[in-house]
Amino acid sequence: MNRLTLLLMAGAMACGLALAPKAETTTTQLPQTPDEAIAELVAGNKRYVKNKAESANPPSARPALAAGQAPFAAFIRCADSRVSPEICFDQPLGGLFVTGIAGNIVTPEVVASLEYTVAVLGSKLIVIMGHSSCGAVEAAIQFRNTTNELPGSLPMLIDQIIVPCTLDSNPKDPNKYLADAVTCNANKGIEQLINRSPVLAEAVKSGKLKIIAGVQDLGSGKFTITKQ
Ligand SMILES: [Zn+2]
Repeated sequence: MNRLTLLLMAGAMACGLALAPKAETTTTQLPQTPDEAIAELVAGNKRYVKNKAESANPPSARPALAAGQAPFAAFIRCADSRVSPEICFDQPLGGLFVTGIAGNIVTPEVVASLEYTVAVLGSKLIVIMGHSSCGAVEAAIQFRNTTNELPGSLPMLIDQIIVPCTLDSNPKDPNKYLADAVTCNANKGIEQLINRSPVLAEAVKSGKLKIIAGVQDLGSGKFTITKQ
């Protein structure tokens, strides 16, 4: 993000307006509404699950990418080598604006990045993307209420995962318990985003933006929307 872009963004936010994204030279029509964006992601995930992915990133696409971007959807996804929205939703480069952080938590830096893509680039949808077998959520469960000190910055991270979700302290089924915590953590992100960002809250209120949460099953590849 250069200085000019930041200034344009600040101006756009001050006016309560989103600047029009740069023209794209793609051959396919980008989703124009939040519901169209959801439909495109659902269709792309079905292709991925059925091993019928269509997206490619040929060298011939690079000049258009270098000229600008207009990502129709944005993501908070976990920092995990098995989670890639572009692959999971069968989208080419330039279609998705992806932020990544362990536990897909809502930090100030993530909020600012999402405000940029919504206010300046015109993204229609934000997806908070949890996933099965999430090590960050598992660590948060394991180390909550413990007197053991985790090293480095990990305590700050896991506190943000588990504190928003009040769960039974004695899980009978650890796998279901983890799955429930992953879903809760993703779902809670919606209200956190809205509460922490007047920019995003206003975009949702005006109908320009939807924020949804969901979980990708790593085994099947299927993404299930858990809250919208
Ligand atoms: Zn994870």
